[in-house]
Formats: sequence, structure tokens, C-alpha cells
Amino acid sequence: MTRYLRPRTLDEALALRADAAGSSALTILAGGTDVYPVRTHRAAWFEAYNRDVLDLSAVPELGGISHDAHGTRIGATATWSAIASAALPPAFAALKQASRQVGGVQIQNRGTVGGNLCNASPAADGMPPLLALDAQVELASLRGRRRLPLADFVLGNRRTALAADEILVAIHVPAPAEQTRSTFLKLGARAYLVISIASVAAVIATDAAGRIASIKIALGACSAAPQRLAGLEARLVGQAATPALAETVSAADLASLSPIDDVRASAAYRRQAALVLVRRALAGLLTSPLEVAA
Ligand SMILES: Cc1cc2nc3c(=O)[nH]c(=O)nc-3n(C[C@H](O)[C@H](O)[C@H](O)COP(=O)(O)OP(=O)(O)OC[C@H]3O[C@@H](n4cnc5c(N)ncnc54)[C@H](O)[C@@H]3O)c2cc1C
Repeated sequence: MTRYLRPRTLDEALALRADAAGSSALTILAGGTDVYPVRTHRAAWFEAYNRDVLDLSAVPELGGISHDAHGTRIGATATWSAIASAALPPAFAALKQASRQVGGVQIQNRGTVGGNLCNASPAADGMPPLLALDAQVELASLRGRRRLPLADFVLGNRRTALAADEILVAIHVPAPAEQTRSTFLKLGARAYLVISIASVAAVIATDAAGRIASIKIALGACSAAPQRLAGLEARLVGQAATPALAETVSAADLASLSPIDDVRASAAYRRQAALVLVRRALAGLLTSPLEVAA
């Protein structure tokens, strides 16, 4: 008989996780919007799925969104709706835009940012904005806590650095420089309620002379794990921050991507879409006034 475990504290949750670490017979559950479709699919094909469930939804330490001088902490069980309605600095506009495009409102009310990262889909919409914000993840186990850059946490398609006894506790974003702005664009087969064919997040800060002081660009659904375009970022720093800069981005700047052919799009289409999205994102950011992400 399977057990449904709903601890009230993080220590209790970590003890249950540690107990099951050897047998891997326990499924962590947050909003369930990735877990239950997988369960249903397996059941439809008569595959056994008799794992215990560790429901994190009653652990207060895993939730909430807060700020201090060092930056912003987003609890792993913060839902997309909570992120969309939180008072966050303008640099978080991309994350807010992404949060409003994860499924529909029902999914946004249940689905969590931690679930999105731990599920490690190449098309996870939370990944590009958080990569572009230099986010770190905080992982806990009975052995202690550790922090990893998000890029070192999500290792590939459905692969993360989460150890068998660990739980993702929170996401930490360092305080952005003043005047940092960001945007998120996603292409799907239709406008809403769709998995990304390609997505981009860009975070830009300009200096007093109107030049790019810092720029972070991350692409989703175009490689096994969403990735930053480090070469392009380095090329654009110090350039005049005008919309014309967007047009200088070429296919060569996206050479590190490795998109695949699948039911949603061909690899060639994804490459072209990614290029268009990057240009649009930069042109939009370099034209528009600072968006206040409240
Ligand atoms: C109709 C529909 C539409 C969707 N549309 C989108 C979309 O547009 N964009 C998008 O990115 N996603 C989409 N999704 C996927 C999903 O909603 C998101 O990935 C969501 O953020 C998952 O969060 P969750 O809390 O529901 O995760 P869960 O399903 O509860 O968990 C997901 C995975 O993460 C693990 N996990 C969860 N929390 C933790 C934790 N704190 N520590 C360790 N492991 C943990 C679970 O064990 C599981 O493996 C969609 C899903 C559905 C059903």
C-alpha cells in the first residue's frame, strides 16, 4: 500500500526523504501539474506506479517571496500566480511575464517554480528568466544545505543535480543593479496554453553613457537544458544601447544551441525562431521605458 505523506516542517520532510533515499520509492509532490500527468500516462499504459507521495504543500519554510539587501528569495513552492502578483523589482519583469504564460490560470494557481525547475524540461518557462537573473538554488538534506548556480542544477532533459535525499528549498536572485530591465518572449503553436517551441529571456542594465553595462540572454527549448548565450553577451557589453543593436545579432551568435526535431517543431525552425525572438527581445528592451514589475 502506498503512503501519502504531508509533513508540516522542513525537518520532517527531510527525514522522510532521507528514509526513502535508498529505495527511490517516493515522489515529491508540489503542485502536481507535472507529477499527475506522468502518473496518469503510466496508468493508461498499465505501468505500475506505486510510489509513496511526499506532499510539500504544508511546509511553510518552502513558500513565500521576500527581499533583503542581498537580493530576493523565492520559496520553492511559490506558485506562478504568487510570482505574478508579487511586488518585485523591474529586473523581474521577465519572470513575471513567464509566470503568466505557464499553462492557464488553473495551472498557474497550482504549479510552482520549484516543480518547474526540478522537472527539468528543456521547455520549462521558468528557466530562461531565472538563468538570466543569475539565480541560485538552495538545496537541503539532513546532511546540511548547499547552493548551486541554476545552470549547474539543471543538467539536461529531466536531469538535475538534486541528490536522492535532497529537497529544493528556495531560489535566490542577487540584487540587480538599478535600472535593470528584462523581458521574456515565448513562441508556441498558438498564443496561450502552449509548450514553448522556443523562448528567450533578456536582462539588460545600461550605464550613464547609454551603453550596455550588463546583458544576460537565456534561451529555452533549444537545447537539452535552457542555456545562456555567453558569447553574445560578451560581444554586446559596452555597445551603444539602441534598438539597432538587436539587428546585429546573427545566427552565428546562437551557434551553441542544439535544438531537436520533435512534434512541436523542426530543429531548423527552432533555430530561426530563436534568432527572431532574441532580436525582438533586445529591440523591445532597448526601445521601451523601464517596466515596473509590480
Ligand atoms: C495543462 C498544462 C500546461 C502546462 N503548461 C506549461 C507551460 O506553458 N510552461 C511550463 O514551463 N510548464 C508547463 N506545464 C508544466 C507544469 O505546470 C510546470 O512545470 C509547473 O511549474 C510544475 O510545478 P508543480 O508544482 O506542479 O510540480 P510537480 O508536478 O509537483 O513536481 C514536478 C517535479 O518536481 C519535483 N519537485 C517538485 N518540487 C520539488 C522540490 N521542492 N524539491 C525537489 N523536487 C521537487 C517533483 O518530484 C516532480 O519530479 C504545464 C502543465 C500542464 C498540466
